[in-house]
Amino acid sequence: MQASNLPTHVKKVVSAVTLCRTNAMKGRVYSCPNGHFSIFIRESCNNRSCPTCQSEIKENGILIQKKKFLILHIIILFLSYLLFCIHIFFPIIKNL
Ligand SMILES: [Zn+2]
Repeated sequence: MQASNLPTHVKKVVSAVTLCRTNAMKGRVYSCPNGHFSIFIRESCNNRSCPTCQSEIKENGILIQKKKFLILHIIILFLSYLLFCIHIFFPIIKNL
């Protein structure tokens, strides 16, 4: 890799992607506050060309979009229910 004719920025990307979440990276221990279990997770490279890191970002983006659509569906259902109630009860209120 050092002797290749690749540009320096490409070498940096290749190095970051190949070392992502491997033993060469630092890690963090996440543990249960009650001490039931703990897990060690390696840090990621956060490089925009890394398929591992970008797939995590993409999944998070999809989850955010799903939450937005869910909220929109709830609002539409609530408004349609409100219109239905007005349609049903308005003649009754009008006759009082
Ligand atoms: Zn990565």
